[in-house]
Amino acid sequence: MKSTIFNGKGNISVEQRPKPIIKEPKDAIVRVVLACVCGSDLWFYRGVSDLPHGSVGHEFIGVVDEIGEAVSDLSVGDFVISPFTWSDGTCEVCKAGFHSACIHGGVFGQGGEGDGGQAEFVRVPQADGTLFKVPGSDFSDETMASFLALTDVMSTGYHAAVSAEVEPGDTVAVVGDGAVGLCAVLSAKLLGAERIIVLGSKTESRHALAREWGATDIITARGEDAVQQLKDRTDGYGADAVMECVGGKDATDTAFAIAKAGAVVGRVGIPHDATVDANVPFFRNVGTRGGPAPARFYQPKLVEAVLNSEINPGRVFDLTVALDDIAEGYAAMDERRAIKALVKVSELNKASA
Ligand SMILES: [Zn+2]
Repeated sequence: MKSTIFNGKGNISVEQRPKPIIKEPKDAIVRVVLACVCGSDLWFYRGVSDLPHGSVGHEFIGVVDEIGEAVSDLSVGDFVISPFTWSDGTCEVCKAGFHSACIHGGVFGQGGEGDGGQAEFVRVPQADGTLFKVPGSDFSDETMASFLALTDVMSTGYHAAVSAEVEPGDTVAVVGDGAVGLCAVLSAKLLGAERIIVLGSKTESRHALAREWGATDIITARGEDAVQQLKDRTDGYGADAVMECVGGKDATDTAFAIAKAGAVVGRVGIPHDATVDANVPFFRNVGTRGGPAPARFYQPKLVEAVLNSEINPGRVFDLTVALDDIAEGYAAMDERRAIKALVKVSELNKASA
């Protein structure tokens, strides 16, 4: 089968690898229909973080192709959405809703010999607890793209909003207008935020989608200027809830600086040298929450929101490539020519393929 291989900084190839096999009784093998490239994939692609040579990708939806003997809730042929992490769904951590920290969990596509999701087939550990089955087999391209967004980017944006305790009527701030930041805007709107201020780039296409999804103000200044502009727009108070969707030091500092006293900063950007000065939030009673999104916890609710046309997070994909051309997806995102690249791997209904 074809699999996306990371060969070192800036080097992605598609190579033939053995099709994964059931290794543990709770495993399933999923035939991938759609995959995508994550903003967090750019960290290793750019050489900012280390990843061993090997199979990558952690966002995929597809069809159950094979199940282990201890899998009871899934059948071959089921259409499933995967979270970017696997989880048993039964431990104390999962029961509390933090599937991304499951004691039997892990993250897909970490290089080496493990299975990545940017491939024709993926081995899914803890399949019953991990995969979310969606009934039906006839979905529009738009709906399929929105399902794909629930594997990570939309669930992560939603986690930012939930962690920041966004409430109806709030004036909120989203730091970052990458794919996750945009999904945080959509999530804040879904949770009833009245005013949504985005602190982002100067990229027009991102502003357009942010406004379509509910952003009311866009600030493109950085650092102290950005903080001042946000305060000017909130009578000097700062935002009722702040969603940090970048992970770098400047973005994290800005997120805490623009939080109103008593607000919570919801962090979903993977921290890169983003040390928080504990004294700054202390004196204004600013809280902090967040981390890797428990996508599996949110998927039932978000799938329903997609099917009810309440949200259309698939709009975040502005480039579609075939699996063979995935290197172009990485390059386009790296060069900011695309917000997020969707990767077509196979057809949902094999008969029509
Ligand atoms: Zn668990």
